[in-house]
Amino acid sequence: MSVVTRIAPSPTGDPHVGTAYIGLFNYTLARQGGGKFILRIEDTDRNRYVPDSEKRIFQMMQWLGLTPDESPLQGGPNGPYRQSERFGLYGEYARQLVADGHAYYAFETAEELTALREAAQAEGRVIAVPSRDLEPGAAQARVTAGEAAVIRLKVPREGETVVHDRLRDPIHFQNREIDDKVLLKADGFPTYHLANVVDDRLMGVTHVVRAEEWITSTPIHVLLYRAFGWPEPAFAHMPLLRNSDKSKISKRKNPTSVEWYQQQGFLPEAMLNFLATMGWTHPDGLEVFDLAEFGRAFRLEDVTLGGPVFSQEKLRWYNGKYLREVLTEEDVTRRLHDFLAGQKVTLPNDAYFRAVVRLMTPRMEVFSEFLEKTPYFWSEEYPVTEKAQVAIEGARDLLPDLAGRLKNLPDFGAADIRAAFAAFAQERGLKLGKVMPPVRAAVAGTMESPDLPDLLATLGRDRVVARIERAAQ
Ligand code: GLU
Repeated sequence: MSVVTRIAPSPTGDPHVGTAYIGLFNYTLARQGGGKFILRIEDTDRNRYVPDSEKRIFQMMQWLGLTPDESPLQGGPNGPYRQSERFGLYGEYARQLVADGHAYYAFETAEELTALREAAQAEGRVIAVPSRDLEPGAAQARVTAGEAAVIRLKVPREGETVVHDRLRDPIHFQNREIDDKVLLKADGFPTYHLANVVDDRLMGVTHVVRAEEWITSTPIHVLLYRAFGWPEPAFAHMPLLRNSDKSKISKRKNPTSVEWYQQQGFLPEAMLNFLATMGWTHPDGLEVFDLAEFGRAFRLEDVTLGGPVFSQEKLRWYNGKYLREVLTEEDVTRRLHDFLAGQKVTLPNDAYFRAVVRLMTPRMEVFSEFLEKTPYFWSEEYPVTEKAQVAIEGARDLLPDLAGRLKNLPDFGAADIRAAFAAFAQERGLKLGKVMPPVRAAVAGTMESPDLPDLLATLGRDRVVARIERAAQ
């Protein structure tokens, strides 16, 4: 049997790193099994619905290269892939369960339910819904007469429901602790549990790989599969991504929107590599590997459950690795150029741009740092830090001579520039540490810049001399 996986995000906001993470593992499992990866939109909760969220989920998946085989965009043989377009279907399944005695019509009003819930809470048990004990024919008659009713799952009062999770020992849930969950609301809308199980079944999903937070829903799903007489899919609940204080990842402590990372100029490859290490370690100890290598080495059973920390520093480290060790210089240049164009910054992709990129690649981890760190490459109006100002003031008398020396160098390459500084320092009986920093301050306005001879060679003689002379005044 080939593997069919899915993600089933709800379009309720920004495209979340958690969706990307779960998407990566599902995509990979499907690819390994020569199977299919489905993206289904679970938009049954109209109160939380955010109109452009779905489109942004697609864009995120596309950016990451985790293209589904079937989705509302691609279509496919099991469509539609939006639950809002499948509404007609769920009622039938819910009524089938009523007919088979696995579910029942319930007529309690919101107020009655609140009272029942309070009573149940006081006694530390789940709520007992009186409609459960109605005679089925009588309940059916009330529904036929037009009375509003929900359909609830009739959870057995005794025994236990065991969830088999590929990553855990069997988990035992006591049935008496499971609520008779609503499956179909009075307005005919399905709840998550019903729609999720029916769709997984109809779409042929063999492996339900989702975040840990859904574990408590799983016994209800298992009961539903049984009630329908369907085989259960394999379940695997992935460890939740965590903030560094180990709490569940949250916007307040970590940017959680993948779009934010995109705007900061993170590379999708680095993001994927980093996400793959959340809960999984490469058996050969490799830290840097691509999606294909992940597919070769990954085994679902090897996922570890200790809460993986979504560490910004680690992600940045990965990104820097990709910039320096994985991508070619040409790739970095092209992608940075595209990134800047996306930010509406027009810089010609010429030899000068390429030289600056080469110089800065070891000094940035994400593309958003590039312009921040390099204003002096693009304009004569670059900011000058206080430290740089001090360095310039302390060397005013040296600067004109240095400018003259550089002006007359036969060749303005880094090696000759370096030699010129050394000669100058020796003649004056000064340390290089006295001679170079003021020049750096003058041409870059900051004490943090690439290696000075490289920097000067890249800026070019005319700019350099003019800037030093200006600073000397
Ligand atoms: N709609 C659920 C979500 O938003 C799906 C959970 C599941 O994968 O079953 O994540």
